[in-house]
Amino acid sequence: MEYLRRGNKALIKDLNRALVLYQLRREGPLSRMEIAKQTKLSPSTLSKITEELKEKAMIKEIGEGHSNGGRKPVYLEFNYNFGYVIGMKIEVKRLIIALTNLKAEAIDRIELPFNYGASADEVIDLIIEGVTKITEKNKFNDRRWLGVGIGVSGLVNKKRGELIYSSLLGWSRVPFREILQKKFSVPIYIDNDVNVYTLAELEYGYGRDLNNFILVISGVGIGAGFVFNKQIYRGEFGGAGEVGHMVIYPNGNNCCCGRRGCLEAHAGEKFIIEETKRLLSYEKDSPLYEDRFSLTIERVLAAAQQGDYCARNAFSTAGRNLGIGLVNLINTVNPAAIILSGENLRGKDYMLPGINEVIDENFFSRYCKAFDLKISELGDDAWERGAATLVINEQFQAPIHRKERTVLTST
Ligand SMILES: [Zn+2]
Repeated sequence: MEYLRRGNKALIKDLNRALVLYQLRREGPLSRMEIAKQTKLSPSTLSKITEELKEKAMIKEIGEGHSNGGRKPVYLEFNYNFGYVIGMKIEVKRLIIALTNLKAEAIDRIELPFNYGASADEVIDLIIEGVTKITEKNKFNDRRWLGVGIGVSGLVNKKRGELIYSSLLGWSRVPFREILQKKFSVPIYIDNDVNVYTLAELEYGYGRDLNNFILVISGVGIGAGFVFNKQIYRGEFGGAGEVGHMVIYPNGNNCCCGRRGCLEAHAGEKFIIEETKRLLSYEKDSPLYEDRFSLTIERVLAAAQQGDYCARNAFSTAGRNLGIGLVNLINTVNPAAIILSGENLRGKDYMLPGINEVIDENFFSRYCKAFDLKISELGDDAWERGAATLVINEQFQAPIHRKERTVLTST
């Protein structure tokens, strides 16, 4: 259990400071009067806080705004270059490390390949090598290095900073925080990769304007991130979002989880390839027919783009099956929107008709428009941005718990 700090002057000061920075980070630039209005702080308290934050270089004054007579207000802006963070994604054969500002915008980025099946120890050595290289190259003042955020596939105990299990990587019990914190002496945060993408969507994508949404990523596997009241829901031990293993066809296709009829086995990458193959046995004239034993998702996608009937139909069926899964999610949590992303969405033009065929069959649709369906517009760097945001959000949250060390703690 986390214990709250005792209520004293230092706590109140830290809270008010966090409040001002929160407004400036989210809504800035703002004039002092606008901050006072939004935070309800008295002018003298606000003035003390802004002076102190200016001295620490966490905020800065920028130009003068317009005025309807009287003195022109000076605008204050959060200094997104006050510190830097590392955001990282661990893939099955590649490590992507980005050094970002406090808006999670990359200043530098490196990719380090490793062999499929590499051990956790080998990849941790590579992480140490990569992080050392990128921080030294950019020669930042170490005091301003606020931490490392990591996104990785699998079950993650975010509180302990530990990967519990990853079937994709074949790793179990990897205490990332313990190992890397010893090495770098900065806070280390880790979360499941889908949650990290969801965080990026919440901060920089469509999710900015939503309280409740579900992000569904469809690629080799299918996973989801849930946002309820602007917070990511992780479940009891970090396992929320395994929607790929929701059964949509009892006794259906075999799934990698050992069960049958899972959404993933009827809408994931492998399904799209297998369904194309199945259809090709009736369409021997298709240019894909010759390649039927060595099909890749890229080949199927290219064929769909050239108008191939089998490829387009395979995407469409995957879309319809995904739609069945989405209907179950809509009925269960009543989200404002479902946001789709992932490699398979490169075939969205052929998947969406299938999805739309079934998605209005949800419980709410006869009474009202239940939800928005969106395709994520974040780029491929969303993973690293989300991982960097893990650090930024932790460092700028109100430090109300004991033992919490953030850039905002005064005692
Ligand atoms: Zn399954």
